[in-house]
Amino acid sequence: MRRICVFCGSSMGNKVEYREAAKQVGEYLVKMDIELIYGGANVGLMKIIADEVLSGGKKVIGIMPHLLIAKEVEHKGISELISVETMAERKELMASMSDGFIAMPGGFGTLDELSEILTHNQLRISDKPIGLLNTEGYYDSLLKFLDEAVNSGFVRKEHRENIIVSSNIEELIDKMNDYEPIVMGKWIKDIKVESNGG
Ligand code: AMP
Repeated sequence: MRRICVFCGSSMGNKVEYREAAKQVGEYLVKMDIELIYGGANVGLMKIIADEVLSGGKKVIGIMPHLLIAKEVEHKGISELISVETMAERKELMASMSDGFIAMPGGFGTLDELSEILTHNQLRISDKPIGLLNTEGYYDSLLKFLDEAVNSGFVRKEHRENIIVSSNIEELIDKMNDYEPIVMGKWIKDIKVESNGG
């Protein structure tokens, strides 16, 4: 992977470990010579990662809708700031420009980005690796919910298992490098059969 897109909080979170993890992600991207694609902001965990990658001399590309640039939350020091019309356009560009995705602790924006890219993966619009950095068990309850969604028959086991999870950035990126998209042709046929009472 040459470029990784990181989804994470525009807030800092209230544990120092979140900030430390963001710093470690930035450091590791530099070490592995991977460029950062992110939301382009100068706030929260987003800022910590961007600053770390920049201070290591590596490229940082931010993608931000006009709406947010008008509110002056953009990071003025990044290598490239791409301005787009809408949040949807931002996600599309993030998806097409990146070789893989990491979601770190964050709020609605992070969940929206993660959820969209998981859906792309499920529909095979994209088959790039998606990693969840589970710092301090932040995503334990989401993962539990996803297991419940599998048990309840709304998420397919193979789609759930497609999410790469680790609390350690080195291990996460190693696993992402080993990722092989699974064959999914069968599940659309399965849901048709299921919906027709099969
Ligand atoms: P949240 O998780 O709600 O803090 O939102 C963070 C995610 O949504 C980031 O990955 C961004 O791409 C996007 N986002 C939300 N708020 C902002 C903001 N103020 N500036 C830039 N991007 C944001």
